[in-house]
Amino acid sequence: VLDREYFINVFRDMLPFVDKESEHLQQLDSAIGDGDHGINLTIGFREVAKQLDTINENAADISTIFKKVGMLLLGKVGGSSGPLYGSFFMKAGKDVTGKNEVTFDEFCGMLLNGIESIQLRGKAELGDKTMIDAFLPGAEVLKQDSPEDPVEKFTAFVEAMKEGAESTIPLIAKKGRAMRLGERAIGHKDPGAESAWMMMEVFLKRLK
Ligand code: ADP
Ligand code: MG
Ligand code: MG
Repeated sequence: VLDREYFINVFRDMLPFVDKESEHLQQLDSAIGDGDHGINLTIGFREVAKQLDTINENAADISTIFKKVGMLLLGKVGGSSGPLYGSFFMKAGKDVTGKNEVTFDEFCGMLLNGIESIQLRGKAELGDKTMIDAFLPGAEVLKQDSPEDPVEKFTAFVEAMKEGAESTIPLIAKKGRAMRLGERAIGHKDPGAESAWMMMEVFLKRLK
């Protein structure tokens, strides 16, 4: 089982993670977007870090923690990744109302709900060169039966997402700012697909 402390710790890890990767994500977004993806995540998770203790004190359950984190990202981040990651976390919390610990399978279900909401909101499909290209291969792993060792499944999940991010390199974008570049987007990795797998790796590191 994963208790609320696990999730609070993960959300606390997010700011140092984005600080570390911000420059890399900025560079990816400079190539095919407007060069602010790292900054956008920093702004969002700085706010989360600032409010996390208060959220933890006031939240009745894991569901509320996820909803509050999602609402902060949605409200504070200007870029398209803010609403997308915001709805990801908000919807990830929707089925765990009243719970202060969840099983690993429940956690997989939370992530699947989150991924579904990114699709509903962004309307991107596989191959559109977005974060969905990382999330959908990951979702396939989450839907499989869990092995004895949760770390094994979650490692495969993150690995599938990482490969999904790599798969965006040769693509032309059908969604987001990179769309305007047409064929000039070819040869560049999608920044949102990259941040998506990296963010899930933050969850993995705390599972180990
Ligand atoms: P902005 O493009 O507004 O500057 P960011 O740079 O923070 O926002 O985020 C860009 C990322 O958002 C892209 O790399 C892509 O992965 C993701 N993205 C953009 N539009 C969509 C969409 N409709 N569906 C899914 N992901 C999207
Ligand atoms: Mg951008
Ligand atoms: Mg922007």
